[in-house]
Amino acid sequence: MYYAGGVVNLIQKCQNCGQSFSWTHIYLSLWMNYKPILCKECGQKHRLYFYSRLINSLFIIPIALFIPFANSKLELSQLFIVTFAIIYFVLTSLPLPYLMKYKSVASDHFLEETK
Ligand SMILES: [Zn+2]
Repeated sequence: MYYAGGVVNLIQKCQNCGQSFSWTHIYLSLWMNYKPILCKECGQKHRLYFYSRLINSLFIIPIALFIPFANSKLELSQLFIVTFAIIYFVLTSLPLPYLMKYKSVASDHFLEETK
């Protein structure tokens, strides 16, 4: 039986062959609107669990609340706010590949399952 993720092996492994996905592989997938990951070893397609997307959303909420507040109350420059937001997104996204969980999907059913 496979065990997808855990305390020791934080980064996701292929549920078909057990090959670990690379941090870069998952990170790029996240920035490409949660693009499904194909295992480099066996080609098995993996799709992000919905709750992993929720985790991403939790990181976005603080900055989404901060920007309007900074705009109206703090009189910070637009440049500062934009720079701050970019740094925030980069820093909070760095550990995300360790938190994301994928499940393998049959390629044929992929389009149906994402609806
Ligand atoms: Zn594989």
